[in-house]
Amino acid sequence: MPEFFSFPPLPEDIRLVIEDGSSFLIIGHINPDGDCLSSQIAMGALLEALGKQVTLVNAGPFERSEITHLSGLFQTGVTEEMKAENPVVVVVDCSSIERIGSLAEEIEGLTTVIFDHHASGEYFGDYRYITPRAISTTFIIMHLYREFGIEITPEIADHLFFGFATDSGFFRFIGPYRGDILRHAAELVDLGVSPNEMADRISGGKNLDYVKYVGKLIDRSEVLLDGRLIIASSYIRDSRTFDTTDRPGDMLYSMLLAIRGVEVVLYLKELETQVTEIGLRSSHQSPVDVGELAKRLGGGGHRRAAGATVNESVEAVRDRLILLVKELLV
Ligand code: 5GP
Ligand code: MN
Repeated sequence: MPEFFSFPPLPEDIRLVIEDGSSFLIIGHINPDGDCLSSQIAMGALLEALGKQVTLVNAGPFERSEITHLSGLFQTGVTEEMKAENPVVVVVDCSSIERIGSLAEEIEGLTTVIFDHHASGEYFGDYRYITPRAISTTFIIMHLYREFGIEITPEIADHLFFGFATDSGFFRFIGPYRGDILRHAAELVDLGVSPNEMADRISGGKNLDYVKYVGKLIDRSEVLLDGRLIIASSYIRDSRTFDTTDRPGDMLYSMLLAIRGVEVVLYLKELETQVTEIGLRSSHQSPVDVGELAKRLGGGGHRRAAGATVNESVEAVRDRLILLVKELLV
């Protein structure tokens, strides 16, 4: 009998913290993606519908092209004035405290509730509702609308669907027996969301120098471990020739994962001389859990998509990762 997904019951103490609070700060992770900001916005609207006072805070930077237009809705820090109200902090799409950046110190002493779908992470906060089988954090927030009996407006439907789409590779990363995700998505489409317009918003809007950057990364990528691992490296000097501000993201990963036999894709980006950002992806057939791998490097994420940033050169982290992946490729 297949194991169908259903949400775990919402703990009574979390319900009470939300019902009793009057002022809320909604926080997400640094370098936010679509799911993060949409979750913050939808969570904020839910609390406002419950009569609460809400402030959205994210330390940024708002670099990914699909989300820059949303940056105006967010404060980038928590001031003493905001803290004076003793707000409840709601953290979404983030399971470890370092991921909220400078906000971690700023919220010290405030009651904190976490809503997230990351399996890996060093748990923090006073209350947690973490469901790793949720495709996105907006999927969890949609469930909360139901739990609190709040109607989803067309505008909020759009935000919820945006999180579903960005975190599921536009519904490609969904396995069998997960009709529940598609049924939730169908509800949002019936509220007026346009999947084709959303697809353009997520994968379109790039400039030529960005697409050339992705081309350069593909050109430079090295196939290792009998064709099962592929590494694409990016250097500071690339920013002189290409547009390297946006993450190559799905465009790069889907092309490299399309190569027969490739199970793990690593994208290494030199941010500073001894600082490297790592993006990790694994194919659905692979035994490699890149979330676990990223955790060993001080980062985190999911089984099939994860990330980390380390204080090492691209070469050093490349050599270390080849050995780590080799161990995991049984
Ligand atoms: P992306 O490659 O799209 O930036 O990230 C893929 C997944 O890995 C996302 O779920 C994201 O939250 C997670 N992730 C990316 N970078 C980091 C990081 O530095 N630390 C942690 N804990 N997770 C990360
Ligand atoms: Mn997410």
